[in-house]
Amino acid sequence: MIISVNIQVIVSVRSYMSAGVKRVIIVGSGPAGYTAGLYTARALLEPLMFAGYMSGGQLMLTSDVENFPGYPNGVEGPSMMLEMREQAEKFGLEVQDKNVERVDLTERPFRLWVEDIEYQAESLIICTGAEAIWLGAEGEDEQRGRGISTCATCDGAFFKDEEIIVVGGGDSAMEEAIFLTRFASKVTIIHRRDVFKSSKVMFDRALNNPKIEIRKFRTIKKWLSDENGLTGALLEDPRNGEIEEIMCSGAFIAIGHKPITKFLDGQLATDDEGYIINVENTMTSVPGVFAAGDVVDKRYRQAITAAGMGCQSAIDAERWLENQD
Ligand SMILES: Cc1cc2nc3c(=O)[nH]c(=O)nc-3n(C[C@H](O)[C@H](O)[C@H](O)COP(=O)(O)OP(=O)(O)OC[C@H]3O[C@@H](n4cnc5c(N)ncnc54)[C@H](O)[C@@H]3O)c2cc1C
Repeated sequence: MIISVNIQVIVSVRSYMSAGVKRVIIVGSGPAGYTAGLYTARALLEPLMFAGYMSGGQLMLTSDVENFPGYPNGVEGPSMMLEMREQAEKFGLEVQDKNVERVDLTERPFRLWVEDIEYQAESLIICTGAEAIWLGAEGEDEQRGRGISTCATCDGAFFKDEEIIVVGGGDSAMEEAIFLTRFASKVTIIHRRDVFKSSKVMFDRALNNPKIEIRKFRTIKKWLSDENGLTGALLEDPRNGEIEEIMCSGAFIAIGHKPITKFLDGQLATDDEGYIINVENTMTSVPGVFAAGDVVDKRYRQAITAAGMGCQSAIDAERWLENQD
């Protein structure tokens, strides 16, 4: 027993010592991270990636991806992410499926802690994404990706001529609802209050769309389903607890996203929603620290845009490092 503990300690110390100061460390393993990994590996920067608690990122949660170029028959999200990883590893990306717990960006080399081991890097690429905020209603976990989604651009086309609901009262909810009318026969917006956060112009656009119905003072009490997926929901009126049933085969939750930046402990400039602000191309407020993908981008939030930004961040990091040499 004592021997195995000692061996573990020795291995940990060695892994830190052998790591030395890396040229680049990538944090996060979604499309942005793997693309940054591929480019920095091919540029011979010997990148190290901490893939995080959800290796592969958000696409590990979905089934079919039909809008990533190069897959004419679509591709399963998890398969695509495994292929991205395989491709980057082939060129030398080293991946550790671990979370970065904290960082010190006050001086170079930058310091990162992973399971209490310290790593150092001349440059960092942060690709930790953003997580959609879910309602947490009964039955939601089971129907994620089987009818309930948080991305209309990604999944709207699966609901041609079907009735769907959108939950939320902000601009995103209005935008998603309007977009979804291209496919759905009817879209019902469910909102818990009668006051909407959305701009008046977006609200009016939704209100005047003949395919959209807006239901105020309604919350989702429970999602309903059968063996084929989502069939509807029980709606509750928060004013008096009255329950009614609504039929739908798809639902989109549009109540916001949360960028994953807690481990940075406020050391990079962010906007008021917590998204990292890139001040020069993909470089953040700290020179030598770059950021890419959904942790920066609250507008597009797509695999292809995250991958594109991952490529940009790798090229930016490479050029920045060259100028420091
Ligand atoms: C259900 C669903 C379906 C979708 N379908 C599509 C689609 O069909 N087409 C499309 O283009 N887009 C789709 N999207 C959106 C797409 O998944 C995202 O835009 C994309 O994954 C963003 O990539 P990213 O690399 O920025 O971050 P993410 O994919 O979010 O990856 C973030 C990574 O950071 C890691 N991480 C977080 N914190 C730490 C830490 N402290 N240390 C180390 N690692 C950390 C996580 O483990 C994860 O690997 C979908 C999203 C969802 C949720």
